[in-house]
Amino acid sequence: MTPRKQDYYEILNVPRTASKKEIKKAYRKLALKHHPDRNKSPEAEEKFKEISEAYAVLSDKEKRIQYDQYGHAGISGRYSRDDIFRSADFERIFKDLGFNFGGHATIFDIFFGRGARRRHRRQKGTNLRYDLQITLEDTAFGLNKDMEIPGFDVCDTCHGSGAKPGTSPKTCQRCKGTGEIRRTKSFGYMHFTEIQTCNKCHGKGVLIETLCDDCKGAGNVQRLHKIRLKIPPGIDNGHGLRLDGKGNPGAQGGPNGDLYVVVHVKPHEIFERNGSNILCEARISFPQATLGTKINVPTLKGEAKLKIPAGTQSETMFRLRGKGVPHLHGWGRGDQFVKIIVQTPTKLTRHQKKLLSELAEEMEHEITFR
Ligand SMILES: [Zn+2]
Ligand SMILES: [Zn+2]
Repeated sequence: MTPRKQDYYEILNVPRTASKKEIKKAYRKLALKHHPDRNKSPEAEEKFKEISEAYAVLSDKEKRIQYDQYGHAGISGRYSRDDIFRSADFERIFKDLGFNFGGHATIFDIFFGRGARRRHRRQKGTNLRYDLQITLEDTAFGLNKDMEIPGFDVCDTCHGSGAKPGTSPKTCQRCKGTGEIRRTKSFGYMHFTEIQTCNKCHGKGVLIETLCDDCKGAGNVQRLHKIRLKIPPGIDNGHGLRLDGKGNPGAQGGPNGDLYVVVHVKPHEIFERNGSNILCEARISFPQATLGTKINVPTLKGEAKLKIPAGTQSETMFRLRGKGVPHLHGWGRGDQFVKIIVQTPTKLTRHQKKLLSELAEEMEHEITFR
């Protein structure tokens, strides 16, 4: 069970109908009492975070409407921690209250440690890659495909902080929240400052003491994402499709990364693709090649008739116009090439052999070399 989050109006001790002015007045009064520069107790810091969050939401028109309508879920589902605090005029209030010369000049310093704002800037999420197998027919005619692709979402329970609800990340004491350890080394007159990522907090500047049960502190949870993929006709093996914003979630409310779907075309039983043309072989008998014939040729869509003229040599190439793959950029389609292979018969009946021998006697046997 996650502890129930207290109502923002109750936290600030104002009625739900309170005006913006009344809300600000209530916050100023409570901030004066709990601001960490005045009140050093850890409870005060927690209390101060609570009232500041309540103020950040209720002082912003859009966020207040969201909160009134959907409660805490309306805020956490829509805004990052950074976004919640961004719009409120904390710095001005602290200055008015005389706190700006203390150690905690900004609200971000209080929540994430001093100097944290720089490090906690919004960061785009990482890109995801997904390898998709399609058929040659799919490349010729395109494909609309509904898919479920494994990806990550911001954890609903902790909203990405990784901390169990009701707890919050604490400033790392080893690096004092900077995320870096600096060591100065001296060689004679020369000084070198070595900067290393803090090995305790791994550069985050904060430590999570109680991990969120649902994401084990990761801040993200793995989910299947439903994706409608539109594969354009003409796409080829190794091509990638970019789906903006379908990658991993960003840090601190940053935008999602992108999803790259890399297309792999399965080898086809009959066809080979070369650019926008496709190629196949047709094995015909030597009398067919000699006397000429009409054959049915499989294409990417149905069959086509191909006339083989009398006297066709093996390896002759025929072209079926427009039966290839569409050009990805531009108009029209490629062609299908049919390579004729004339087969030499190997198993003949006695009668067939006799006929062929008779034919051989009638023919001139001219052998040429090149
Ligand atoms: Zn979580
Ligand atoms: Zn640290």
